[in-house]
Amino acid sequence: MTHYDVIIVGGGPAGLSAALILGRCRRRVLICDAGRPRNAASQGLNGFLTRDGILPMELRRIARNQLGKYDTVEFRNEEVADAGRVDGGFGITLQEGDSLTCRKLLLATGVVDHIPQIEGIAELYGRSVFHCPYCDGWELRGQPIGIYGRGEHGKGLALELTAWSRDLVLLTDGDAELDGESIDRLHRNEILVRTEKIAALEGADGILHRVQFASGEAIERRAVFLSCGETQGSDLPARLGCKFTSKGAVDTGTYETTNVPGLYVAGDAGRYVQLSIVAAAEGAEAAFAINTALLKEDLL
Ligand SMILES: Cc1cc2nc3c(=O)[nH]c(=O)nc-3n(C[C@H](O)[C@H](O)[C@H](O)COP(=O)(O)OP(=O)(O)OC[C@H]3O[C@@H](n4cnc5c(N)ncnc54)[C@H](O)[C@@H]3O)c2cc1C
Repeated sequence: MTHYDVIIVGGGPAGLSAALILGRCRRRVLICDAGRPRNAASQGLNGFLTRDGILPMELRRIARNQLGKYDTVEFRNEEVADAGRVDGGFGITLQEGDSLTCRKLLLATGVVDHIPQIEGIAELYGRSVFHCPYCDGWELRGQPIGIYGRGEHGKGLALELTAWSRDLVLLTDGDAELDGESIDRLHRNEILVRTEKIAALEGADGILHRVQFASGEAIERRAVFLSCGETQGSDLPARLGCKFTSKGAVDTGTYETTNVPGLYVAGDAGRYVQLSIVAAAEGAEAAFAINTALLKEDLL
């Protein structure tokens, strides 16, 4: 059975960044990726220093290309179906059935966004329908924006978006799940609240034109930001016994350690600030910690 110093599950910014640092530490590294990037629909990855606006797949292509010169780093474009503890580390099973072992395991498996089932949303997702104002707010500054969400999360995103536009409508698609004080606060900040059921998002060529309510009325909007939650991109953290925060992220400590010895989690799977550059930084931090742990084990 092939044995590695480190196996990295997930080949997004977090996993690729960790592979780069570990490969340069002369660690034998395998990186496995199922090829389902969270931001696959995005038309431009914004806010990544020196790469502002790059296509997400182009960032991955450059990273993999640069990793190609390190004979210490191997790739498998394959899902990791299972993982567990073995003597001296971890064992993984790939989807096609291969079993491999490693001393340290890094999960960089990301998250999956919940996207509401609304007619027209699929064609607009990543072009006029977004999640994060830090990623896509600048391009929509001053524009008429809808915020889709309920309760405290919907309210929070609506208030947050006032930094980018003051033409905001909170779309709750049914009961707002907010008390009077919350509604007053939204109104004080000139955010309208519409509780009608939504029938469709209408637009052309990826540009949203209007939100169509089931009542027959429509309002013009240029973009919608969603606040609908997310889940872990993989059940491996749970299966390996990781603790989670109340928000559903893996509860990581300093240098992306987890409560499971030898297991590290970097990127969106374990953090509140979900930006690619932060994921890449966490991958580098985890790599630093993993190399240090391996040195401690090996030095006399
Ligand atoms: C629409 C949209 C737009 C965005 N725009 C921006 C932006 O402009 N700027 C920005 O900084 N951030 C943006 N983000 C956020 C950004 O996508 C994430 O912060 C970033 O992708 C996190 O990197 P990651 O490596 O943690 O996870 P990901 O990039 O999601 O990578 C995780 C990888 O792990 C793989 N994986 C999961 N489970 C397994 C398994 N069992 N076996 C093998 N592989 C597995 C997945 O297939 C995936 O390739 C956007 C997100 C969305 C949804």
